[in-house]
Amino acid sequence: MSTSSAGRWAVVTGASSGIGAATARQLAAAGFHVVLGARRLDRLTELAEEIGGTALRLDITDADSVTAFVEQVPECHVLVNNAGGAKGMAKVADAVEDDWRWMWETNVLGTLRITKALMPKLVASGNGHVVTVTSVAASEVYDNGGGYTSAKHAQGALHRTLRGEHLGEPVRFTEIAPGLVETEFSEVRFSGDKERAAGVYRGITPLTGDDVADIITFAVTRPDHVNVDYLVVKPRDQYSATRVHRRD
Ligand code: NAP
Repeated sequence: MSTSSAGRWAVVTGASSGIGAATARQLAAAGFHVVLGARRLDRLTELAEEIGGTALRLDITDADSVTAFVEQVPECHVLVNNAGGAKGMAKVADAVEDDWRWMWETNVLGTLRITKALMPKLVASGNGHVVTVTSVAASEVYDNGGGYTSAKHAQGALHRTLRGEHLGEPVRFTEIAPGLVETEFSEVRFSGDKERAAGVYRGITPLTGDDVADIITFAVTRPDHVNVDYLVVKPRDQYSATRVHRRD
């Protein structure tokens, strides 16, 4: 039997696109009141109207924005740490510091800020749940990906540390580590170069945002005593971060 979601509040960061938007939709369909956070408020507002949720501007790299956001969230049973991404691909020897700073600020410090700010509400809910979307890049490294893999490793370490630190409290922690998901991720990584972004998914059937959202929804609707700790999900065509079968 799954836990009832009626009357429970879920916060989804990065809900303006991709995995986050799909998760907001599916959690609302499961009965949660969803608070959607991201920087593009126009997109959030449209989706919030569709699913009966609340749209709030949020920049997780800005401490004041996080504080203002959290003040407007009356309750929090579920936090989905989804906002994040990659910028560029370069050897460590050629690393662009601004790209690394963006990735660390967003994936690592952003996750820290919002989780820290919402933790009192998650504990007070009596049955809180933190889901963090890391990546296969949180456990594997690949050439030219050092900025992203190091940030995702750190985000995973932060998340797994929380699981131990809150043991005995009424909060669950789930890490979801996806492989290739077709979203705006690669367009952001390659600064809007759509052709290069499309090449990432060439000749394979990638995951969709909905495939990952489905798994997040499964994890948060298990009975209260069931903690799905860590779940890796990849397309059938993907063996690892570096090995993909392309049909062309
Ligand atoms: P996406 O379509 O680019 O979505 C990223 C989301 O993060 C957007 O909603 C964006 O919203 C938000 N975001 C970025 N910076 C933010 C900030 N400073 N403050 C608040 N929100 C911010 O990519 P996605 O694939 O759905 O990515 C979601 C998560 O999955 C990321 O953590 C990513 O690292 C991870 N992931 C993706 C893949 C993949 O292959 N796609 C694989 C493994 C893991 P705004 O721009 O409106 O702020």
